[in-house]
Amino acid sequence: MTTIRLVRSDITRERADAIVNAANSSLLGGGGVDGAIHRRGGPAILADCRALRASRYGRGLPTGQAVATTAGDLDATWVIHTVGPVYAAGEDRSALLASCYRESLRVADELGAGTVAFPAISTGVYGWPMDDGARIALETVRTADTRVREVRFVLFDEPAHAIFAARLDESAPGD
Ligand code: ADP
Repeated sequence: MTTIRLVRSDITRERADAIVNAANSSLLGGGGVDGAIHRRGGPAILADCRALRASRYGRGLPTGQAVATTAGDLDATWVIHTVGPVYAAGEDRSALLASCYRESLRVADELGAGTVAFPAISTGVYGWPMDDGARIALETVRTADTRVREVRFVLFDEPAHAIFAARLDESAPGD
């Protein structure tokens, strides 16, 4: 049974076995969460990402997949990088967004991570509406087959936190 917690915070300040990065497929850094993780985590994360580019992901990490690196100076053992889909109003890409959460948990299981912190993937620069992003995130984690004990959603601002809280109440078993 996985416990789901919500916190309003900067994900780079969190302590967890693994911190998930809303990366882009280049794995070479970007804005938002990605930029913050590389800034605070230091150059070791980028060095691992470059090594992954040189070996397994020469064409970049495909959308919906996940891969782990060191967490550098962050208060975590691993960063799990996943590439969310860009939101498109005329096309249903929700399976790819769900895949980001599921694949990140699969990688966490492989690593033996007990606690995992997630940002709200795709809800920043990639434009996914927060309410729908929260619904997909919570549903996917709630139904995932994983040994991760605690999933923590780290929401950057109060509106995002409130939206996740409303969705979590709604999906609480027994209600
Ligand atoms: P994406 O490209 O997948 O949309 P972003 O990093 O642009 O990724 O945004 C994803 C979500 O993370 C947004 O809701 C954004 O507000 C939030 N965010 C940005 N910086 C941080 C941070 N340091 N900690 C937690 N969440 C963050």
